[in-house]
Amino acid sequence: MGFDTQAIHAGEEPDFDGHPSGDVVVPIHLSSTFARRDVDEPTGGFEYSRSGNPTRFALEKKLAAIEGARYGLAFSSGLAAETTLCLSLLKAGDHVVAFDDLYGGTRRLFTRVFQENYGIGFSYADARDPENIKAAIRKDTKIIWLESPTNPLLRLCDIRAIAGIAHDAGARVVVDNTFASPYFQQPIGLGADVVVHSTTKYINGHSDSIGGALVTSDEELFRKLRFHQNTAGGILSPFDSFLVSRGIKTLALRMKRHEKNALAVAEFLSGHAKVAAVYYPGLASHPQHALARKQMKGFSGMLSVELKGGEAETRKFLRHLHLFALAESLGGVESLIEHPATMTHASIPPSERKKVGISDTLVRISVGIENADDLLADLDQALGTI
Ligand code: PLP
Repeated sequence: MGFDTQAIHAGEEPDFDGHPSGDVVVPIHLSSTFARRDVDEPTGGFEYSRSGNPTRFALEKKLAAIEGARYGLAFSSGLAAETTLCLSLLKAGDHVVAFDDLYGGTRRLFTRVFQENYGIGFSYADARDPENIKAAIRKDTKIIWLESPTNPLLRLCDIRAIAGIAHDAGARVVVDNTFASPYFQQPIGLGADVVVHSTTKYINGHSDSIGGALVTSDEELFRKLRFHQNTAGGILSPFDSFLVSRGIKTLALRMKRHEKNALAVAEFLSGHAKVAAVYYPGLASHPQHALARKQMKGFSGMLSVELKGGEAETRKFLRHLHLFALAESLGGVESLIEHPATMTHASIPPSERKKVGISDTLVRISVGIENADDLLADLDQALGTI
């Protein structure tokens, strides 16, 4: 079945036995607990909503289907999903190799919690070259943690090549697929063991729910993750599960439009006198454009731009935009813009930011699905002020 068909039907097939009313949309099951006839087993399969909830289970099936995987789990945020994954796979003394360009909150979780409090080691490597990952792997390496494309520099890594290296070394590969969305990239098919999402972003798509997901096809790993999801408790609520399910139904349509608009913005900014560099994997000038074409079905709606001048000019440009809201987050229908050095990646020490390439004149743009001409006009007038 096609992606768009799965996005609409998976997890929500009318069930005349379970739901005699024939709902075509799974209801929002708000009940925190479920009655049973006898003590021995739950009559309808559910006992308590942290362990399992019909609305969340429907979403979890849909998440697995759209990633081309067998199992999905929904969490109260992307970071709750990441935390649960680390709790499931790591113990004191273990080691993780991570892409050096990662969402700032992920790095903060690794450093401030798992490294400082639990004695887990983290090494960061530039995964654009798989050999750098290979060189960073140690005997005790349990996870290779990747984003592709990365937040905020839109760098890619060859997921298939790195999965080969990781599996030879007995490590698992985790890919944060938030920027690409499953519509444009399915890491499980490229050899990843687990996919992570902040569903807050493209998957929900309307900037009105915080959520996260883990997806895998490995049954044993899934059982571990389900155990830790229930034990640590970071589950997605029934209402948010409904919202995310609803968002997924238009993911294919939205992603096509995000990409079309992002390409228009990237091309416009590439030719602008006030812009020093544009990072967008869909541009032929992106150093990893060929890899993007190979492992992705499209280029998504995220790009970053290096402005000419200094931080003062960058701040002035951001202040003068009308349609692009100056806000953290991404992947919603509305265009957003932000300054990674002081916003999403402020928790990374300045020296580390510099090493990775996050400058004070870098701005990250989440291109929405508005009229592209209106977006270009807004960018043009704001650039005209600096
Ligand atoms: N992964 C990426 C790539 C992100 O951009 C974010 C948030 O911005 C997260 C994970 C964390 O997700 P959440 O904010 O839903 O906890």
